[in-house]
Amino acid sequence: MDVLPTMKPKRELLYGLVDADMISNETRHPNLALLKIAGYLRDHGISYRLITDNNADISPFDHIYLSKVFTFTPLPQFYVDYMKSSSVKRHDLFSCGGTGWYATEQDLEKFLRKRSKDFYQLEKDPRLKGLDMKRQMPDYDLYKSYMEEQIAKGRSRVYYKDYLDYSIGFLTRGCFRHCSFCVNKLENRVYPHSELSDFVDDRRPYIYLWDDNFFAAPLGFVRQKLNELIATKKPFQFRQGLDIRLIDKERAQLLGMARYHGDMIFAFDHWSDRDIIVKKLKIWKKYCPHKTTKFYLFCGFELTPTSDEKVFEDICQLFWRIKILMSYGCLGYVMRHEDYKKHPLGNIYTQIARWCNQPQFYKKMSFHEFIDRNQFYVPNPEHKCMALRTYEAFLNKYSERRDILEDLFDKVKYTSLVDPSLWE
Ligand code: SF4
Repeated sequence: MDVLPTMKPKRELLYGLVDADMISNETRHPNLALLKIAGYLRDHGISYRLITDNNADISPFDHIYLSKVFTFTPLPQFYVDYMKSSSVKRHDLFSCGGTGWYATEQDLEKFLRKRSKDFYQLEKDPRLKGLDMKRQMPDYDLYKSYMEEQIAKGRSRVYYKDYLDYSIGFLTRGCFRHCSFCVNKLENRVYPHSELSDFVDDRRPYIYLWDDNFFAAPLGFVRQKLNELIATKKPFQFRQGLDIRLIDKERAQLLGMARYHGDMIFAFDHWSDRDIIVKKLKIWKKYCPHKTTKFYLFCGFELTPTSDEKVFEDICQLFWRIKILMSYGCLGYVMRHEDYKKHPLGNIYTQIARWCNQPQFYKKMSFHEFIDRNQFYVPNPEHKCMALRTYEAFLNKYSERRDILEDLFDKVKYTSLVDPSLWE
């Protein structure tokens, strides 16, 4: 009788997917690139697993995709250990990507090189042959079991709603504004990206969009896409904010008709834009007077340990922007660039954000009153809380211009400034 040679059963490939921002608790948003890789692997019958432990055993994995969005996100310990290990031969175990690997690169040539590589590396990856990042339907279940574990441990479901309830995608990519702090700084235009059918999952009740500057697309495109969004009957939201400088009657009316989810978010990043923003606010408030409207307020950029003048000016401009927003009945949301930490008085930005970013404080009290309220809850009146210490140190630093600061900290108050006659 012939004896057949023993065939070793072929071992299935197993890929690991790592959301470094999630592992280090820096985010509450799923990573779209990983969702799409997972979607591709699912569609091609390849096994994969989300790695969620900082010290995970990575030996079972044939390849690992590691993504991080923020430059300040630390790398997982298993990655650091693996790269340090001298016995390791296969340094190609990891494919790393995401804006967190290059967003703060100062050298523009290097920045461009790294960004271009990052943009196209997955579609060029021989393991993901045929992957089309625009068209690939995400695997929204990638995070499911991890989220269920966390909820079972007592975390609220609402905390994880972005992972559980939303379809996520980009209708457009790019921008033309060249803001120096933005990863789009070298982009010159907005171009179409995915179709809604590429990423909307009927089982998910909401849609959120990561478009950088949707309103900068041609009006016909904007009209078509807003109508498509409205036709889904699902509430939707542009998470990065919309560019109010580009709003007109039709864009405002379309948004007014839509089931927009949550607050309408715009950006007021530069004090130099105040005239156009006021002009556009009048249009927006005319067509959507009742929609809660919030503006991202970028600040703290390019500070150094000695940039005292810049800090003074930046804080004044922040309050002047808030003053305009309050008069139009809008909320502010302070977005601090990491550079704010470099200045010894950088904590003033944290205190202002604590006040401004919480509508229950922003709408009821001035910044000064908020600081006093912090101190009120300190059990021992001899002890000054961090908020008060920061506030006093800031005023003392600029003692010659104390009156300017006190005026802003006392008088920029929603209840005194809101003026419906500006838009009614
Ligand atoms: S407008 Fe927004 S997306 Fe465009 S470059 Fe400026 S920050 Fe970036």
